[in-house]
Amino acid sequence: MSTQISSETLEQNSERIVTVVIICERCGSNSKEIVLPNVERILVSNERHLCPVCSQIEARNCSNRIEGELTSLNSNLKEIFEKYESDSGAIRDAAFDELAEYAAGVEMLKTVKLVLSGGNPDSWLEVTHNDENIIQKVVFVFEDWFDRAEVKVQPGSQAWKFAEFMIEVA
Ligand SMILES: [Zn+2]
Repeated sequence: MSTQISSETLEQNSERIVTVVIICERCGSNSKEIVLPNVERILVSNERHLCPVCSQIEARNCSNRIEGELTSLNSNLKEIFEKYESDSGAIRDAAFDELAEYAAGVEMLKTVKLVLSGGNPDSWLEVTHNDENIIQKVVFVFEDWFDRAEVKVQPGSQAWKFAEFMIEVA
């Protein structure tokens, strides 16, 4: 429980004032908030308690923004594809050019599968790298019968170093 109700309930201007100490779950800083005495509502709330600084940082996290970014990409593309399916040849041609120029750059990446174990459970590394053998992403995949899980491998870890080694020698 990150929200602590202070032991003191002050009487001020003949109103009951309850002070709540909120401990930020991210940085651990304390802040005091004066709330109306409906303390029960706060105690049962499951929301995360973050200080204003941390809540701003979290909101800017890529993992919090990526869904919105993809939604806007899809809606931009939807507009162009609608024109691309138009009956008018001129509109179609314009949409074709728009699509062809939509990507700011096109880069070839190769994905190599390094099989670690085969036959229930199966495991392998999927190593994605560019032309200069610079690794962009390593995914560890673990499969047992009809169950499957995958995690991104952290750069600098032993599995990442092994992937670099194999890309160099393969
Ligand atoms: Zn904080």
